[in-house]
Amino acid sequence: MLPLHPILAEPAHFSLIEKLILLALTVASVAAFWSRFGVVLNKILHSKKDADFHIFPLGRRVWDFFWEVLCQAKVIRERPLPGLAHAFVFWGFCAFALVTLNHFAAGLGIPFLDPAGLFGRFYFYLAAAFALACAAGILGLFIRRFLVRPRWLGAKLSYESGFIAFLIFALMATYLAAFFVTDDSLATRVLWWLHTLALLTFLPIIPHTKHLHLVLSPATVFLSRGGFSRIPPLHGDEDFGLVAGTDLTQLVSLQAYSCVECGRCTEHCPANNTGKILNPKEIVLGLRGYLNDLGPASDQPLLGKYNSQEAAFQCTTCGACEFQCPVGIEHLPILVGLRRGAVNTGAWENDHGGKLFLNLERGSNAMGISTSERDKFIQKQSLPWFDGTQEYCLWLGCMGAYDPKGREIVSDLARILRHLNVTFGVLRKEKCTGDPVRRLGNDLLFQQLAEANLETFAQNKVTKVITICPHCVRTIQEDWKEFGTPPAAEHHSEFLARHATALTSVLSEEKIVYHDPCYLGRYRNVYEEPRAVIGLAGQLVEAPRNHERSFCCGAGGGLAFLGEETGDRVSSVRAAELVATGAQTIATACPFCNSMFRDALAAAGDHAPQLLDIAQLTARRLPESQ
Ligand code: SF4
Ligand code: SF4
Repeated sequence: MLPLHPILAEPAHFSLIEKLILLALTVASVAAFWSRFGVVLNKILHSKKDADFHIFPLGRRVWDFFWEVLCQAKVIRERPLPGLAHAFVFWGFCAFALVTLNHFAAGLGIPFLDPAGLFGRFYFYLAAAFALACAAGILGLFIRRFLVRPRWLGAKLSYESGFIAFLIFALMATYLAAFFVTDDSLATRVLWWLHTLALLTFLPIIPHTKHLHLVLSPATVFLSRGGFSRIPPLHGDEDFGLVAGTDLTQLVSLQAYSCVECGRCTEHCPANNTGKILNPKEIVLGLRGYLNDLGPASDQPLLGKYNSQEAAFQCTTCGACEFQCPVGIEHLPILVGLRRGAVNTGAWENDHGGKLFLNLERGSNAMGISTSERDKFIQKQSLPWFDGTQEYCLWLGCMGAYDPKGREIVSDLARILRHLNVTFGVLRKEKCTGDPVRRLGNDLLFQQLAEANLETFAQNKVTKVITICPHCVRTIQEDWKEFGTPPAAEHHSEFLARHATALTSVLSEEKIVYHDPCYLGRYRNVYEEPRAVIGLAGQLVEAPRNHERSFCCGAGGGLAFLGEETGDRVSSVRAAELVATGAQTIATACPFCNSMFRDALAAAGDHAPQLLDIAQLTARRLPESQ
């Protein structure tokens, strides 16, 4: 018969032999934990210092820690069911910290929580509720890993994960069972020792397995660079990026050891999803393997045995991996760092890449077209020159100045600006922002372009920039900060949404599906503005992957200039997804996406939906004379 108000049963006393056994086992367990954890810690601490790291301001770090670690917000948001199961396990661990301390104290005869006292009874009940949730959570995760087996977790069954799940379940079960026995029974003593053995077995397993993230990931989240895709500056003439172990910084090493191998990054990677060899999880694990085998003092190359150069250059820098990672791993500084290493040491040889670099060294744009073509376009459209008196500098970008469709978008944006009586002008001397070379790792060229443009801005007294290209916005606003103070730059979607009331809306049944560009969404957190603009023109339809989960068009990271892809084309996969929504129109907000889809949709022939930028959707409602 169960007691009406059960309390947690503990053995009334422990013999000297029991205490000595407990002490010996605890020392052995802690020693086994340290034998591996000490090595890992040593490798992290002996990695190169992050020259640009600042602990302040603390507010952002504390918030990230609270939200992402304590609330498990990212874990739950991106994968609700398994995320919640994981959160139950994590919260169970937190609740059990006090219970576990008291458990060992009781074994040594100095318990500080009285199961019959008011606080003790309350706390043990609370922990029991968490234990139930934790047991259910670990059972769910076990079923997912061993029965459902999503491919992102890897083809190989992880028996260590199964054993860990068993230990966690045993911990919870032995704790809960202790509510249904009495203090002086043999069952109580057996349960107490089983609980103790499970704990002491669990501890050394942590650093020897991917469960190391239990200890490291709170620090990884707290210490992360923050922001999104924050590429650290190179320091000094000897810094070429990530070339060898000696280039791995403490943050990179900490992140490499924090990976929990959940595969979320890979699940969302457009390169991996279209048959390329790039696997962001393996990139991180490759660095971990390098650190394990060679350590941070090694001068052996990082690319080769541990990571592949081909994979590093297949990345579109879409940022889906970094956005998804639940333990704060920043993939883009790693991927761009590896590219920097390969480019700056001359190890990367690619005809298309070489041509792009040459185009930008000799001329002003990524396409290698004469600037006189830009001037002709400006004259034909009667775009005014920026003279310092206008409100906006209209930044054309390479696509807006030289690509035929990009030019149409710029012309339509200019019509809208005139319609709204907003003054603007274009620069006589505009060079590529350096976005593709920045992401491809050519820092010297990027610096030259950024400095030249910053000087032009300063000479022309530009304070506000508007552009149709999210890559330009990002590069001007964030990446150029390394070399000066850029003016405020905004994307035309933000401008158009702000002026929505002054733009005519139509009652239209036209279904328009919107493709979130990576550099506008994940990079700039702009999701609703383009949707508001589309809402003025027709009925917004969502693609299956939208907002933060949008699937890349394949152009970013300089890949628009690198020629044919291996596997399926990223743009074709995304275009097919957009076409399948049945929308009459595909709306884009980036000239690169537009250009990628243009080619992909050509295959669909006459049945393809029309492809329009949000500026074009807006301009077509303006009076013809404008
Ligand atoms: S940035 Fe995008 S393409 Fe590159 S590894 Fe991450 S998910 Fe894959
Ligand atoms: S890098 Fe992050 S998202 Fe990718 S497997 Fe590791 S923990 Fe998961």
